[in-house]
Amino acid sequence: MKKSIQAFDSILDLVGNTPLIKLSKITQGLKGNFYGKVEAFNPGHSAKDRIALHIIEEAEKKGILKPGDTIVETTSGNTGFSIAMVGAIKGYECILAVSSKSSKDKIDMLRAMGAKVYVCPANVAADDPRSYYSVAQRLHEELKGSIYINQYFNELNIEAHYQTTGPEIWEQTNGKITHFIACSGTGGTISGTAKYLKEQDSSIRVLGVDAYGSVLKKYHETGEFDKNEIFPYRIEGLGKNLIPTATDFSVIDKFTKVTDEAAAHAARELAKAEGLFLGYTSGAVFQAIRQFEAEGEFDKNSNVVVLFPDHGSRYMSKIYSDDWMKEQGFFDNVNIEKSNEVEY
Ligand code: PMP
Repeated sequence: MKKSIQAFDSILDLVGNTPLIKLSKITQGLKGNFYGKVEAFNPGHSAKDRIALHIIEEAEKKGILKPGDTIVETTSGNTGFSIAMVGAIKGYECILAVSSKSSKDKIDMLRAMGAKVYVCPANVAADDPRSYYSVAQRLHEELKGSIYINQYFNELNIEAHYQTTGPEIWEQTNGKITHFIACSGTGGTISGTAKYLKEQDSSIRVLGVDAYGSVLKKYHETGEFDKNEIFPYRIEGLGKNLIPTATDFSVIDKFTKVTDEAAAHAARELAKAEGLFLGYTSGAVFQAIRQFEAEGEFDKNSNVVVLFPDHGSRYMSKIYSDDWMKEQGFFDNVNIEKSNEVEY
């Protein structure tokens, strides 16, 4: 019998089904068992492949997206990369409005994937005509035959994780998961995954990670949108200066906030200790493990799954650049020798 060719139709067949990896070294001394859901294994190297594919295919099913049409989005980079990847394969134009806070690597990558990129100022209000929300909305209105992904306000963002990330984690842990920790940006990842997991076992604790400078934690605790919480910060993709409807706050039990500095060092530790070369928010999640552990969240029987959103290659000019770390003052309190930094 002839052997058939073992090939995928396209890389879109490889979206999702990412591995769960035990974190052994960096969690030594912490109570509990810790596992990383490593989203960098998606073909576009982030969790955003899941929502890009889901939202685009739902639009195709509804007949509102036809070959040659345009996809418009606001994005910190990852969603844009995933949209551009799906668009390239399916034959759509992509126009992306990104924040000037996004790393140069991310913007160059979007252009490499064939997307048109508009860089908009980071620290203006969402309703300012220069903000990336306003720019994307305007482009969508002006362009006939375009769809606006609108990830912060799109229910399908939650649904993508409800249908894929949640069931994968439930299966990979054989239902033994006790805690789920994830970053909140649009909130799609944490909300969709948590909704599925809590439907299987309502005792699973869902812990969110927010940034200093963002409104999410305070809003979760008080129901109040507090503008005083807002100030510029470095971590990209985590936290927000508005309340996204793609976040279901009712399935999140608790938030913690992490600093730019702690998250940057944590990401560097993950690479050195576990061989996991991941993004800035993965460092934030790892830092959050320590903070939640210190708050007494876990015991020795806890099976804690943390979601690592993207790959480290997107942050070469930031957290993986010693010069950048120095410029931020992130090495000021570090014993260089002890931290394994070698000066050449
Ligand atoms: N980490 C990174 C690097 C991201 O780009 C995002 C998305 N903004 C998140 C975390 C947060 O994921 P979500 O939008 O699903 O809350």
